[in-house]
Amino acid sequence: TSEPIRLEDHIRDIPDFPQKGVLFKDITPLLQDAKAFHAALDRIAAHYAGAGIEAVVGVESRGFIIGAPLAYLLNCGFVPVRKFGKLPAETSSVEYALEYGTNVVEVHTDAIKPGQRVLVVDDLLATGGTVLAAIELVERLGGHIAGISFLVELGFLKGRERLEGRDVFALIKY
Ligand code: IMP
Repeated sequence: TSEPIRLEDHIRDIPDFPQKGVLFKDITPLLQDAKAFHAALDRIAAHYAGAGIEAVVGVESRGFIIGAPLAYLLNCGFVPVRKFGKLPAETSSVEYALEYGTNVVEVHTDAIKPGQRVLVVDDLLATGGTVLAAIELVERLGGHIAGISFLVELGFLKGRERLEGRDVFALIKY
């Protein structure tokens, strides 16, 4: 029998990226390792098996990398939340605060149906601002947030507190 895969061994620390003083968690080593990537997706899918997920919403861009294969595993559709100006049809948009400045993300207004059970995914939870913006878009369209999932959670940034009362699942916590 083989050892269980330790996902945290496939996350790399990059000091001073994207700016001085920030320790960036780089998930690309996990993505490029077939066994680790497969195990990570299987573990998230297993957590939501039987949860009746009807759509996976992924946040551009790394949320797409996790969200699309997860939608495939959960046998449901994938809905992209994109940066401003990228989606071609009618959109709903929300502005949210970044450390410096603001960002606008959008979703197609017909992408979520009222009452639909939605799983929101991104690669990493830091302060929670990004995922809260995606949640706002889904709820505005009447979707029900059935889960929120990440590969990595930076616990010390307290994003989970801003998601109080919601089902938050992260594979790796720092
Ligand atoms: P938040 O909005 O503060 O929770 O930041 C999360 C967003 O920023 C996610 O979309 C991440 O992709 C990105 N992010 C923030 N810090 C890191 C990091 O250390 N590694 C990878 N992505 C990060």
